[in-house]
Amino acid sequence: MSKKSDKKRRNWGEIPSKLPSGIIDTHAHIDMISDWVDDINQNNLKKNRQPIDNPAIQTIARNSLKSNVINFIQCACDLPKINQLSNTLDSIEEVINLPLGAVAIHPNEAALHDGWSNPSPDGLIPVMEEIHKTNNLESSLAAVVEKLENDKRIRVVGETGLDFYRTAASGWPAQIKSFREHISLAKNYNKALQIHDRLAHREILEILQADIPPERVIFHSFSGDSAMAEFCTKKGWFLSYSGPITFSNNEKSQKALKSTDLNYLLLETDCPFLAPAPNRGTPNAPVYTANIAYFIAEFLDLNLDQFCQKTLSNTFKVLDISI
Ligand SMILES: [Zn+2]
Repeated sequence: MSKKSDKKRRNWGEIPSKLPSGIIDTHAHIDMISDWVDDINQNNLKKNRQPIDNPAIQTIARNSLKSNVINFIQCACDLPKINQLSNTLDSIEEVINLPLGAVAIHPNEAALHDGWSNPSPDGLIPVMEEIHKTNNLESSLAAVVEKLENDKRIRVVGETGLDFYRTAASGWPAQIKSFREHISLAKNYNKALQIHDRLAHREILEILQADIPPERVIFHSFSGDSAMAEFCTKKGWFLSYSGPITFSNNEKSQKALKSTDLNYLLLETDCPFLAPAPNRGTPNAPVYTANIAYFIAEFLDLNLDQFCQKTLSNTFKVLDISI
């Protein structure tokens, strides 16, 4: 790694210029940013570098407004974060009138709650913690139901789905069971379903169709090809594009983007992961959804203002919010 890129990775990227109209980040984990920055700062300390800012939730929300990212869907998908979600939404509400929450047991968490932690295809060994041992899949799903019942700010069931990369095959049946339970919950509570699909396109599409999908479906951080993009948008399912769409070597997703009906296109960061160009590798936050909007509007040769308005109205539609 060159000195220049090393320097870049340990700092926040610049705040993007203000978009001509507002957009919403449809998938963020802003409660994970602090730990992410702590890790960077521990490394900075070891190397005698200055620490970088570790902003409070309210500051993260305020910063997003600077680039006209007017809101974000805050996603809690493990038990500790689910237990904290209402507090996190309270903090967001100090800055943004209509905080938007999402809740689910992440597919990789589902496998752990069901007792599976074999080394995964990505080469890592999943860490089974006490909370996984003391809460089986059923009781962790009960925590999702409890949130859906008690916090009306939660409008999305997600992220749920299948992850055949970070979980070994022994844990896939638990993921499938959990995914099906979440499909039912989205239908029963009339929420949008937000899908995490990692190396499991075929299985996700099969289950969704076999179980009759909820009315509103989002493929978060969409990673399928053009054929899948066409298939999904013809079904009326929404595809949400994140930072990797901006990477110059991501031809597959860029082709898929060209096949995506604009009526079903959404934008997201999946922060603190997946920072878009030009800040690849730095910590991510909702404000950088603006970089993705700039990239896609230019890539598809669209009027930026109209593109932002379109993705905003798509977001309200998928959340069933009338404006
Ligand atoms: Zn996520």
